[in-house]
Amino acid sequence: MSRFSPSGRAFVAALLAFVAVAGVTSLAVAGKLCCSHCGRDNGCRKVCRLVCEDRKITKVCWGRQCEDFCLPGPTWCGKKHCEMVCTDCANPNDPKAVTTGPSPLVWRDWIPGRCATVHTKARLMKRTVTKTVPSYKWQVEYLCAGCEEGCTPITHPADAYIPPPPAVDGAKIIPGQVVPPPAPVK
Ligand SMILES: [Zn+2]
Repeated sequence: MSRFSPSGRAFVAALLAFVAVAGVTSLAVAGKLCCSHCGRDNGCRKVCRLVCEDRKITKVCWGRQCEDFCLPGPTWCGKKHCEMVCTDCANPNDPKAVTTGPSPLVWRDWIPGRCATVHTKARLMKRTVTKTVPSYKWQVEYLCAGCEEGCTPITHPADAYIPPPPAVDGAKIIPGQVVPPPAPVK
């Protein structure tokens, strides 16, 4: 959820737009119309050109992984064992030693049942898929004539979403070019 109310968001958007424009304007006021690409101040002008940048999108997919396991049948009670322990635990020469006496340790063998059955369990599994997709935006720059000439318009598919160019006073708009569809296979 956004931390800003609708009016707050509008204010932040206006503030960002002002800062962006102010950043470009301050260069003009300071008399430093330097080219954004080569740094020279030879007849630069504002250029608003379409640029493409990669955007990473992710999707979380949920699935299941099956695994077989064996469920044993009832076990049988087998032979009884008995063993005496702690027969030599006490150390008569050590006053801090634990003193105890011999005691029986008793256990039984348990024989696995014969009617084991195989079952399948499904575990919930998570898989994250990441894809890089193109994203288009308008970029305002100061460019000299040489760098402006060297700015080849980007190409994009005909069905790509291209945002409308912003209204920037006096800026030359360099739009993208639609990639021609591939020739039909004969
Ligand atoms: Zn330049």
